[in-house]
Amino acid sequence: MIIIKSPQEIEIMRQCGKILSDIIERLRKEIRAGIKTRELDDIVVFEAKMREAEPSFKNYEGFPANLCVSVNDEIVHGFPGERVLREGDIVSLDVGVKFKGFHTDAAITVGVGAISEQNKELIAVTEEALMAGIAQARCGAYIGDISSAIQHYVESKGFSVVREYTGHGVGRDLHEEPKIPNFAFGKGPLLRKGMTLAIEPMVNMGSWRTKLAPNQWTVLTEDGSFSAHFEHTIVITDDEAEILA
Ligand code: MG
Repeated sequence: MIIIKSPQEIEIMRQCGKILSDIIERLRKEIRAGIKTRELDDIVVFEAKMREAEPSFKNYEGFPANLCVSVNDEIVHGFPGERVLREGDIVSLDVGVKFKGFHTDAAITVGVGAISEQNKELIAVTEEALMAGIAQARCGAYIGDISSAIQHYVESKGFSVVREYTGHGVGRDLHEEPKIPNFAFGKGPLLRKGMTLAIEPMVNMGSWRTKLAPNQWTVLTEDGSFSAHFEHTIVITDDEAEILA
């Protein structure tokens, strides 16, 4: 069932989203060659606590960390740890926080130091695809309009969209209905005012196919090509969607 949020609930999610956006901007500033991905996890814990929020991912279905750090050919669900970021890497940071009973969820991909022109384009196209999807997210349109806009944009630039992992509703639960694929699949549910959605294209330089790492969590590109990921939590309004995080 798709849950419509009340104006009061949306206001809490707006506050939650501001907290998350601040944490993500803090992480972005920390990205540099030489930092261990575990240090980024520590920052999420500290910054969330400072803001009386709680990281959403820790222990979610057994996930062992407070954020997902996915480097280069890792698409999503990378574990923070002893890995040291190196110049030329691209790193996706996916974080969720819970505040006053509601979650928001967002992700960015950033380059470490100087990165290749191809990787710069991959990152730009992924973020632009997310915005192309959000532009379709209006009352009276369908989930499928978001999905097909994302796929069309990505493929027009020569990249591919991951099929097996999708966006989702978000609110009292981190993952609510509906699923939001990043590829055309038909109409899907009608968009209504008060729906809160996490839209999150995962875009690969090569094939869209994926494989699972031995840790059974981290998703990699099957062909070893690099991948980027952007995500916003939005709310459907009478007009353009509002980005909450
Ligand atoms: Mg998400």
